Amino acid sequence: MTASIKPLVAGNWKMNGLKTDLGIAAEIARGHDGALRTKVDLAICPPATLLYPMTAALIGSRIATGGQDCSLRDSGAFTGEVSAAMLADAGAQYAIVGHSERRTLHGERDATVKAKAQAAQAALLVPIVCVGETKDEREAGKALAVVKKQLRGSVPEGSTGATLVVAYEPVWAIGTGLTPTTADVAEMHAAIRADLGRILGKAAAASVRLLYGGSVKPSNAAELMGVSDVDGALVGGASLKAEDFLGIARAC
Ligand code: PGA
Repeated sequence: MTASIKPLVAGNWKMNGLKTDLGIAAEIARGHDGALRTKVDLAICPPATLLYPMTAALIGSRIATGGQDCSLRDSGAFTGEVSAAMLADAGAQYAIVGHSERRTLHGERDATVKAKAQAAQAALLVPIVCVGETKDEREAGKALAVVKKQLRGSVPEGSTGATLVVAYEPVWAIGTGLTPTTADVAEMHAAIRADLGRILGKAAAASVRLLYGGSVKPSNAAELMGVSDVDGALVGGASLKAEDFLGIARAC
């Protein structure tokens, strides 16, 4: 944790969730009571179809919603795409961009991720820019270099802690039950903070929330969240169960 930063725990529902699952968000809101609220911010990123009803279901709570991706374009003949302004119009405050599933399954490169992050910021959404190395890259000793390159290519210049969140998600830890050692997380998060300092300036970099993501669950959250420069979590599978998601939030 960074003492001056309020942690953020963001749930990434991926392609899961129907209207009948809105009760999960309501249950999370009930558990995000006074004490927890003052300590940690929560956000849920459901599929785009649930953004509007989920935001409505969360009115009165302090839980934000976010998209899982956004178009890099504003509007027009782009069948199937959802713009950042549309996400904002549906009530979102965040947009995940550059998730490894988008980078891998949809061939998104750093320049695209950066354009999406800029589109999100232009719509007054806070992009959660994801970076992370593959297993092969880690084993080849290239993890730091890979993440550094992704950061340089994906983070919009001029961002601050108010307009940017960065999530470090080792690809090999996503959905696998595997997590890096706390020493590896500490090394990577310190390197990300230092590199953001070179991109954004030291003061801005010091205020950016750096989330760890990849197999975070209630049983390992306290250990991971206790690492310096870890300012919260991006949670996939465990965000679909209210008790697990709240358990992770309590561990912050
Ligand atoms: P996981 O996913 O928590 O299920 O590993 C994390 C993510 O993909 O953001």
